[in-house]
Amino acid sequence: MTSKKKSVGVIPLGNISEIALQAIAEHITGCFKLTTQILPPLEKPEYAIDERRLQYNAGIIIETMEAMHFGNHDKVIGVLNKDLFIPIFTHVFGEARQGGTCGLVSLFRLAKNSDGSSPPKSIIHERAAKVALHELGHLLDLLHCEHKRCLMHFSGGTEEVDEMSLDLCEYCSIYLQDKLR
Ligand SMILES: [Zn+2]
Ligand SMILES: [Zn+2]
Repeated sequence: MTSKKKSVGVIPLGNISEIALQAIAEHITGCFKLTTQILPPLEKPEYAIDERRLQYNAGIIIETMEAMHFGNHDKVIGVLNKDLFIPIFTHVFGEARQGGTCGLVSLFRLAKNSDGSSPPKSIIHERAAKVALHELGHLLDLLHCEHKRCLMHFSGGTEEVDEMSLDLCEYCSIYLQDKLR
């Protein structure tokens, strides 16, 4: 049986540290066993700023990215350092549409704990990797999961991100394997 391995592109939107990009790419390769490549950066998404909220509209960025071509990559994760929102939430750590091509993760809110303190860089990178994997999960058609430790658990705060493991629960894992077959 032949199965075409999916390939994932990780693309910075603006100036993002190489270590953060590598942490995300390595976790995608390690956890989802997919080929991953860091792509050359796109411009900062200034077109998506909402003048009233002074935040960036995740849906507009995703639509713009989905109109682009990223070589032979089936899925693309954009990484940025801007405060993202979608209309129904005050902010989001990342965003992706079920079964879509492009997802986003923002380092902006992951770089602060809920008490306002700053975590070490290694924690920020781990959080970013978790959110990137979560959004990639949505792109691969996974839904939210009620298991708190599962990557597909919905996180509204950084504590919830920290509580997640870097793995899918058994159920989501079987579902993903089925999707990737
Ligand atoms: Zn989600
Ligand atoms: Zn799960």
